[in-house]
Amino acid sequence: MAVSHISKQFLKRFSRHFKTFINGKYISGIVRTYCTRTDNSFDLIVVGGGSGGLACAKEAASFGKKVAVLDFVSPSTQGVKWGLGGTCVNVGCIPKKLMHQAALLGQAIKDAKSFGWNIPETSFSWEVMAANVQSHVKSLNWGHRVQLKDKDVTYFNAKGSFLDNKTLEAVNAKGQKKILKGDQFVIAVGGRPTIPNIPGALDYSITSDDLFWLKESPGKTLVVGASYVALECAGFLAGVGLDVTVMVRSIPLRGFDQEMAKLVCTHMEKHGVKFLPKCLPQQLDKITNGQIRVKYTSGVGEKMEDHFNTVLMATGRWPETKALNLHNTSVEIDSSTGKIIGGFNNDLEKSSADNIYAIGDILLNRPELTPVAIRAGKLLARRLFGGSTLQMDYTSIGTTVFTPLEYSCVGISEEEAIHKFGEDSIEEYTVPQRDASQCFTKFICMREGAGKLVGLHYLGPNAGEVMQGFVTAFRAGASMTTVMNTVGIHPTCAEEIVKLNITKRSGEDPQVTGC
Ligand code: FAD
Ligand code: NDP
Repeated sequence: MAVSHISKQFLKRFSRHFKTFINGKYISGIVRTYCTRTDNSFDLIVVGGGSGGLACAKEAASFGKKVAVLDFVSPSTQGVKWGLGGTCVNVGCIPKKLMHQAALLGQAIKDAKSFGWNIPETSFSWEVMAANVQSHVKSLNWGHRVQLKDKDVTYFNAKGSFLDNKTLEAVNAKGQKKILKGDQFVIAVGGRPTIPNIPGALDYSITSDDLFWLKESPGKTLVVGASYVALECAGFLAGVGLDVTVMVRSIPLRGFDQEMAKLVCTHMEKHGVKFLPKCLPQQLDKITNGQIRVKYTSGVGEKMEDHFNTVLMATGRWPETKALNLHNTSVEIDSSTGKIIGGFNNDLEKSSADNIYAIGDILLNRPELTPVAIRAGKLLARRLFGGSTLQMDYTSIGTTVFTPLEYSCVGISEEEAIHKFGEDSIEEYTVPQRDASQCFTKFICMREGAGKLVGLHYLGPNAGEVMQGFVTAFRAGASMTTVMNTVGIHPTCAEEIVKLNITKRSGEDPQVTGC
């Protein structure tokens, strides 16, 4: 229906401030658009205001579309809640990295003495660190709200559930309901930690959702699990001086290069973290002194127990799809993971419902990382409203595990390379820099030709910073010859990478002994 045929009283007027540069001049003004939409009808509704959802909503709004975001945080098992921004901002990357930094600073203070600093006795206050981390996170929550307002994105602090493919029910904390209509929907609801189904676990353990919001020190802590979340949390807890034990069900950092994973754990062990390999928790009770008694079995079936002030369950995450009532839509879910299946009609984020998409942690078989969710959200908005056809490339994505000695990688592990190409087809270059427990680099490449890189692994200080540029080179198809022809930046840890020239196959000692 042409707008000119409708009486103005049925139209909604949108005013948008714009800023732009034209012919070198800065121009700002207001653009007015009339639209037939009612207050509760949108071009795009994004369910979930985390990394992916916010990025997608803001990008869609920049094309002049009427966009809404719903974000609602259900309390953790211990009743903890937080603000807008999702996992990364509130209970993930940001508070984790700040606490990791607190731990690194402690180590730096110790090291400073041997560099001549006369440092008086130091002590650590969890209360001060936590208060500052939490207030930083709250400022980010506020920043996200302001950004949505600036971009004219309507924000509902409400939980969304579908009534059909085009209708969503939004319920706020007071139980007030609103019915919202959308042409397109993006589901970006992320996941939440899981707790093993053992007696006492739900009542007496915490998860990463709680850890970052503790006002007091967790004290002597048992961390159950041995992947990203478990090892990162164990690392910074030990780094700020706590007694920390990690209970490992099978192997540490499943899916990562196991030689690197072992070096990560060895370094943690040397810095005071205790490991209980092949152990499983069986029962948690509260005892009279307020501590938690953990009964567990060892790998050989032996029954053991120990007491802790805190038990942190870092045993994986589960997608938040249940509350969405997706059975009212035609969206297909993977029954074993609870995640949304994408890839319909040649669009990687399109679900089996034509107008419903999924991005971030909720999408099946995609890396659960913030930059992945953000990039996928932006690209999707550009395809939906900006005429783009560009799909997200989920391959060759770098990642860093922020353990006391950081580990960063891109591409595949040695195990996967051998499995995929066969031992005879690959070459492995390694450099333990003075001491493999302080710094270790391993590049895996094909043996033929210039040696196309297939996996880069770096363990050492500032691993994420060191590897970011190498990830770009990796994506650009760099070969081992390119790496070896690169002149290093001296004196750095990263330069050792471009000095890699001894292969594992040669049997020579690659230990670095001088410049
Ligand atoms: P989320 O950020 O989880 O956002 C989803 C939002 O939707 C949440 O606010 C949720 O409350 C809301 N929601 C859920 N259901 C509904 C509903 N029905 N209605 C309305 N709102 C709803 N990644 C990195 O790249 N680097 C790191 O260093 C890193 N560290 C991490 C550390 C920890 C401890 C954890 C747990 C994760 C970490 N991650 C890290 C992973 C990263 O946080 C996630 O990959 C990222 O946040 C996923 O973004 P998302 O948009 O998919 O979902
Ligand atoms: P994971 O699923 O990767 O790991 C779960 C861990 O818990 C594994 O070690 C698993 O052992 C163990 N486990 C599971 N169930 C039990 C049980 N019943 N008893 C004992 N142990 C158990 O989850 P995470 O929560 O660590 O990480 C989730 C995702 O979050 C990651 O894949 C990552 O993408 C993202 N993340 C990213 C970070 C970063 O970029 N730095 C940091 C933190 C998270 P087993 O191996 O035997 O199954």
